[in-house]
Amino acid sequence: MSSDELSSREYQRQRDSDLARRSFAGGLVYLGFLAALWATTDYFSTHPVMLAAVTAISGVCGAARFLLGYRFERLYGANPAAWRAAYFIAVNLSILAWGLFVMATFLLYGFRDWKTLLLLICLAGTAPIALAAQTPSPVIIHTFLVALTAPMIAASLYLGGALNYTMALVFTWYLMFALGHARVLHRHYVRYTLEKFALAAAKKSAEEANRAKSVFLAHMGHELRTPMNAILGMTHLALNSPADTERRQYMRMVKSAGENLLETLNSLLDFSKIEAGKVQLDAVTFSVRQLADGTLQSFLGGAKSKGLQLRSYVDPSVPLRLRGDPLRLRQVLTNVLGNALKFTERGEIECRISRIPDAAAGVLLQFTVRDTGIGIAPEKQQLIFEAFEQADSSTTRKYGGTGLGLAISARLVDLMGGRMWVESQPGQGSSFHWTARFATVAAKDVREAQDAALQSEPAPATELKILVVEDHDMSRQLMEKLLAMRGYAVVTVANGKDALREMEEQAFDVVLMDMHMPELDGMGATAEIRRREKGGPPTPIIALTAESSEGLRERYVDAGITDYLAKPIKPDRLFELIEKVQQRSSGAAT
Ligand code: ADP
Repeated sequence: MSSDELSSREYQRQRDSDLARRSFAGGLVYLGFLAALWATTDYFSTHPVMLAAVTAISGVCGAARFLLGYRFERLYGANPAAWRAAYFIAVNLSILAWGLFVMATFLLYGFRDWKTLLLLICLAGTAPIALAAQTPSPVIIHTFLVALTAPMIAASLYLGGALNYTMALVFTWYLMFALGHARVLHRHYVRYTLEKFALAAAKKSAEEANRAKSVFLAHMGHELRTPMNAILGMTHLALNSPADTERRQYMRMVKSAGENLLETLNSLLDFSKIEAGKVQLDAVTFSVRQLADGTLQSFLGGAKSKGLQLRSYVDPSVPLRLRGDPLRLRQVLTNVLGNALKFTERGEIECRISRIPDAAAGVLLQFTVRDTGIGIAPEKQQLIFEAFEQADSSTTRKYGGTGLGLAISARLVDLMGGRMWVESQPGQGSSFHWTARFATVAAKDVREAQDAALQSEPAPATELKILVVEDHDMSRQLMEKLLAMRGYAVVTVANGKDALREMEEQAFDVVLMDMHMPELDGMGATAEIRRREKGGPPTPIIALTAESSEGLRERYVDAGITDYLAKPIKPDRLFELIEKVQQRSSGAAT
């Protein structure tokens, strides 16, 4: 831990509190010494003034020390520096008085007198106790030991003679040894205290994380149950409705609730993937302008229905084409625009993209989405970029959302070599800004990308024969209907074994293979299909999987799978992929 932390106010307070707690009653021990003197010596009659002075100093200092310790919270809270000075004086003044008292006794009566011996025994006994009790403060323990032993050493040297010089030597040796040991004890104390601090901080942050997760779970519960409720309710209505138009209307609502549900699940999975450091950005050529236009287009309807103006402005200095991850950039833009729309009731939303000139490689762009919505309180402006955090849970109840969107966006922007921040005035609106770095594209690549874009027009539906291997009843029926609707000839089977049997009977253009199945799973079935093909033209196999782990594609390709689709399946994506793999395979065969 750094010296900054060592000298921090919190640490200092802990040290002083430990010192007070351990040693505040220590001043009372001198009363015992006085009682022993009174009971066994004639000091009270021979030197009453000296004894009265020692008694008074010990009494006042002992009481002060007791009070300073006993009322630590209040007195220290009022003025820590004054508390520290008062405690220092209370400890050292009384031990100095006793040190001088022993010295005087030594000078008056010599070493062999009982009074000297009694006082030496008493004070020698307090030293190790003080050493342990005052460990938190090296200053106090050092001054204490010096005040205790220095007068004795001075007196021994003053009296001279072999015996007294030996005494001086013994006391000096004793003082050095005690000072050295005090340092070791203090070092142990510091380590222990800092560990305690670190543990307390870790516990606090774990508790905070736990609290945020509990709140998050409650929100998630709500976010998952609401569309689920709509899906079940609308399905029930649809099942009991005789009219076709009404049924279609219910089913449209089911679809929209399903999409909502999927969005929530996707953000959750996305977030854990980013957190685990498993997201890798693509580097493909794309047009920022087209991306911005396309994204804004999808918000036009929503803005119009709320009577909001939606504007965009792309600075001419932004290059036509760049290399980067358009999907992830669109995800950030969609989230920020979605929030702007969600939290704005009147006025406008504006999206600006400009280039920031800088010396580093590539192009640094700045994106700004400004709205005239409800705004965000200053103390929440940092918090909203944390996972599971929302500016105001009551607003959120009204607007919905999981509190993950900005956390995901900020992390994605971070991966794009930029940062994200917000400027906002409650009641006036917010401006979300983010920067991102992209690679530049050579003019030749721009033309190629344009050609590729032209070529990737959706292919017309073809008459294909498809085998669906899926154990889940409903999913199998769904696939069958979807594919038949597209005009394909479909055969369905419930596991890998049946698929093999079916493929022996007839040939298929494409196989859609679920991965998790009883009897023979997707991997096993694929291996067997490839074995039976014996190096002949392979039937394209598309894996259908709910898995999304790292290296999945490589694993599948190694196993002989042509391509894969993540569940839930989007019909357009499915048709596109079927036709793509089929064209590739027939192209290879010719
Ligand atoms: P979600 O919108 O799903 O709750 P986000 O992470 O996208 O999660 O946003 C977190 C919070 O930030 C929102 O709940 C909202 O309180 C606040 N917020 C985000 N964008 C805006 C905005 N444009 N205007 C006002 N508040 C916003």
